[in-house]
Amino acid sequence: MNTYSPRIVHVRPELDRMAEYVPGESPEAFSVRTGIPVSCLIKLNSNESPYGPAPSVLSALSDHRWYNNYPDTNATVLRTALSHYTGLDGRFIILGHGSMEVISLLWHIFLAAGDNIICCPPTFSLYTSVTTLCGAYILEVPRSIDYEVDVEGILEALTPETKMIVLCSPNNPTGNPVAEADVLTLLETGRIVVVDEAYVEFSDRPRGYAHLVPQYSNLVVLRTFSKWAGLAGLRIGYGLFPEWIGAYMRRAQCPFEVNVAGHIAAIETLNDLDYVFGNVRKIVQERDRVYNVLASQPYLEPIPSQGNFILARVINEDVDILRVRAILESHGILLRYFSHPYLRDFLRVTVGLPEHTDQLAHALSKVTG
Ligand SMILES: *Cc1c(COP(=O)(O)O)cnc(C)c1O
Repeated sequence: MNTYSPRIVHVRPELDRMAEYVPGESPEAFSVRTGIPVSCLIKLNSNESPYGPAPSVLSALSDHRWYNNYPDTNATVLRTALSHYTGLDGRFIILGHGSMEVISLLWHIFLAAGDNIICCPPTFSLYTSVTTLCGAYILEVPRSIDYEVDVEGILEALTPETKMIVLCSPNNPTGNPVAEADVLTLLETGRIVVVDEAYVEFSDRPRGYAHLVPQYSNLVVLRTFSKWAGLAGLRIGYGLFPEWIGAYMRRAQCPFEVNVAGHIAAIETLNDLDYVFGNVRKIVQERDRVYNVLASQPYLEPIPSQGNFILARVINEDVDILRVRAILESHGILLRYFSHPYLRDFLRVTVGLPEHTDQLAHALSKVTG
């Protein structure tokens, strides 16, 4: 590179106000930082499944012989399987390289410079980075004291430039779902209402709001195989779209986005639902234990969750969250911590295996012990 030439090409100015999305730390990076070997770590910071893919998924992946060929862009087989799973016709389904790719495409389809979207913090922070990349803005309508979406507040915040209202249900990181009445009220605004259902399989209503998609021209439901199906590393997600939006999504998407391994893993998962939902049930049961462990610490206040994670607040003024973090990290336990002002005193725990809960309980008891 010639370091003497003046820069005559500049990146778009919105990149300068774009905060990088900071995911949960990887075991490799954690290990380098702390000196604790990867094999000793308990990773409870990214809401991944402790059970991993179904054995049938792993054997289908290793039996496949045609990785030299591009994937089926129409996802003929997977679309049919997903259609059975969601109860929706295949024409409503768009697949993506993780639901994050679906989010990114959807945002780029609707958001131009100066537009805005409404988000209800505390919520998933990726929405913010993609919005900024589009040159658009976030209007934050904070949740109420019990983390409910403030529907009145959203209606008041709408501007002519508001293109989308983004809801996450169950919400990451608070764990509570959005009420159907609230979704219906917001659909009346005519804005695109996005319901991100990344955790719906762990909730009391595992079918979520998919059934509403064919009835509304402005409702989008996002799903993923990353969490409940244990496929985060393979990057496969999908969205349920009104047909007119789906047509633009197809136009905007690069062909072959979902790789062959993702197709195979998703298809086999849907063929083996009894097994995979057995694991989901184990996680939902374990969630009660994790809740009790958190609630029994005098310095923590957990929030009931319908996801595979629980958010808890450090409520004792004598206990510093940095100290809690240091103690947990010395035990090799990775949790999620936040920099957003709403979440400074909070930690989020992914529900893992029963033995992970035991070790978490042991490490948390050292904070006051
Ligand atoms: C994990 C997560 C996603 C991302 O899912 P991928 O399919 O892995 O891209 C989307 N939304 C929320 C709220 C999540 O927590």
